[in-house]
Amino acid sequence: MSIDTASIPFNRPCLGGPEYAYVANAVERMHLSGDGSFTHACHAILEQVSGAAKALLTTSCTHALEMSGLLLELKPGDEVIVPAFTFVSTVNAYVLRGAHPVFADVRADTMNLDERQLESLITPRTKAIVVVHYAGVACEMDAILEIARRHGVPVVEDNAHGLFGSYRSRPLGSFGVMATQSFHETKNIQCGEGGALLLNDPSLVRRAEILREKGTNRAAFFRGAVDKYTWVDVGSSWLPSDMLAAFLLAQLEAREAIQAKRRAVWDRYQASLAGWASDHGVRLPTIPAHCDHPSHMFYMVLPDLAARTHFISHLRAQQIHAVFHYQALHLSPMGRSLGGRDGQCPVTEMASDCLVRLPLWNDLPTADQDRVIEAVRSSM
Ligand SMILES: *Cc1c(COP(=O)(O)O)cnc(C)c1O
Repeated sequence: MSIDTASIPFNRPCLGGPEYAYVANAVERMHLSGDGSFTHACHAILEQVSGAAKALLTTSCTHALEMSGLLLELKPGDEVIVPAFTFVSTVNAYVLRGAHPVFADVRADTMNLDERQLESLITPRTKAIVVVHYAGVACEMDAILEIARRHGVPVVEDNAHGLFGSYRSRPLGSFGVMATQSFHETKNIQCGEGGALLLNDPSLVRRAEILREKGTNRAAFFRGAVDKYTWVDVGSSWLPSDMLAAFLLAQLEAREAIQAKRRAVWDRYQASLAGWASDHGVRLPTIPAHCDHPSHMFYMVLPDLAARTHFISHLRAQQIHAVFHYQALHLSPMGRSLGGRDGQCPVTEMASDCLVRLPLWNDLPTADQDRVIEAVRSSM
């Protein structure tokens, strides 16, 4: 192993097309604040691909989740069912409103909220069910929506991984009353920091616009629907600059090329590692036949924590950066303070110890993919 081998980062943000030209154009127009023409163009694409009644760009997926907490009108003591295996923001957004998170374990095949346990977690205080389509592979939405409907509980999709994914040919992000997207630089489509709230229930649109504009009816004013704008509700400032939207628009317009590149890397990993994985007790991602995934991440589940620690250092010795996530949220200091207990979500606890992600980004060169595949095969 030569020491001057260039390192292969876990992620590298990639340009999709005319990002520079669009940002320059936003600067020339001197519309630098939010909700300019680039933002509106992004909204149109997001509405087209998801079928949402309204898309609103936000400063992050975290902020879109916070908006969902306000739109659900959560009060202290309300319960929100969340997967224990997810990013902090999926849960923190509701804890911020005083709600109590009820942690659901995930399925061992897809790492998605286990719909078979869902009904046992519902109580008269349950005010929402939040699902995460892990790695962009859909949760079992037929079963989840049926249970939610029977109990009159709204579903929110944290679709940070799942833009362009589908379940029974229907786009992810179109199942919940609302869904959130992330355009953080680690996601398929990115602008550094950014997100969106997709509203599938049209009755939420007006309030969402107000919350995002500091509690004012500024959006209605610009549409000419009111003759002055004023403070009408709570809110904050959750709209990104139109310069960021310009960058994002270039990425969204290049979505087919970006997705094709990612699919090629994902498929190559899968084809090259399937035999090795089954020989070594390693599990590769499970993609149910009724799910189309957007090649957001390639993960592997190793036999135990020691095997994962060895695996990551074996790759690191060859300058390849593989990473793990998520630490079981119910066992984090905050999760424990909210009542989380050891053994409460066994699959999540296993995944926290055993799951690892391989480098995957749009322009990952073929030669680097080969180096990753070789390093994985020589790890055990
Ligand atoms: C990335 C991510 C988020 C947070 O996204 P930001 O845009 O960085 O706030 C939330 N949930 C999930 C599942 C994520 O992967």
